[in-house]
Amino acid sequence: RKGVVVVTGASSGLGLATAKALAETGKWQIIMACRDFLKAEKAAKSAGMPKENYTIMHLDLASLDSVRQFIANFRSSGMPLDVLVCNAAVYQPTASQPSYTAEGFEMSVGVNHLGHFLLARELLDDLKKSDYPSKRLIIVGSITGNTNTLAGNVPPKANLGDLRGLAGGLSGMNGSAMIDGGEFDGAKAYKDSKVCNMLMMQEFHRRFHEETGITFASLYPGCIATTGLFREHIPLFRLLFPPFQKYITKGFVSEDDAGRRLAQVVSDPSLTKSGVYWSWNKNSASFENQLSQEASDAEKAKRVWELSEKLVGLA
Ligand code: NDP
Repeated sequence: RKGVVVVTGASSGLGLATAKALAETGKWQIIMACRDFLKAEKAAKSAGMPKENYTIMHLDLASLDSVRQFIANFRSSGMPLDVLVCNAAVYQPTASQPSYTAEGFEMSVGVNHLGHFLLARELLDDLKKSDYPSKRLIIVGSITGNTNTLAGNVPPKANLGDLRGLAGGLSGMNGSAMIDGGEFDGAKAYKDSKVCNMLMMQEFHRRFHEETGITFASLYPGCIATTGLFREHIPLFRLLFPPFQKYITKGFVSEDDAGRRLAQVVSDPSLTKSGVYWSWNKNSASFENQLSQEASDAEKAKRVWELSEKLVGLA
């Protein structure tokens, strides 16, 4: 049978390119989990994805009710779950004030981390039940949350601190909207959310890999400077960022190539190792990359896990 893969945020950028790369193989049924149904349908069509290879299901990660509804819809479809790709994200580098999810969590961490955390925790049961030979849970990471790299050292740097803001629910009401309890900074909130993504991948690995055989992995697909992720950035930045990445940092990767990289992490038989953060070198060969000290801190991962469980109603 075809493999069944759920890809969040498959309506644009990396998620769409990944869906397209997988659809072209004919070996996958792609569940495009998107907040804007019509946009996803148009995107799939214009990417030339064969209709029989994808299904669009509504998912708004900025609402935990929507996450639960998505899970119920997916289960009622009767399809097995073989691979889950947590890809969707928001990035609000120019926001001067925080915005909030339905439950009142700061938006970047609420969508990128907490929405995905509930989704992945719940769908773990479905992955366990699947009889697919290579089951995987993939969380898209980023270099920007990794302070052991040049890109990760561009201020404001990711820093989860002592997690006091997360413990306070990121509401901005009774405390801070930021994980570390500091002043709101949209770019930092995004980077912090990506550190959470990478910590969660490893915590899933520690808790569940041995027992379930599921591969838990993260990746940095390269700098895809052309995606909608930068839609909220100032116009001059949007103009100069792609050539800067192409010619100066040389980290630029096209959406199609990045999609092929993530598709590899979904389906390549040689990428089954669990607990790995994949990156690609100049010749486009994949390698196991090192995470920064904070992004590989097992104690912090455990505390983020436990606090996140409380916030999404799992504990
Ligand atoms: P895009 O903005 O193009 O794609 C983001 C996707 O997430 C869109 O499909 C968007 O939906 C979806 N999304 C946003 N908010 C929600 C929500 N509340 N519920 C459901 N879906 C939502 O960005 P990219 O393709 O660049 O980003 C994809 C991933 O790649 C992210 O995890 C990002 O952190 C990561 N990444 C990107 C890099 C880059 O250079 N671009 C580098 C490293 C990592 P909609 O279409 O409706 O807006």
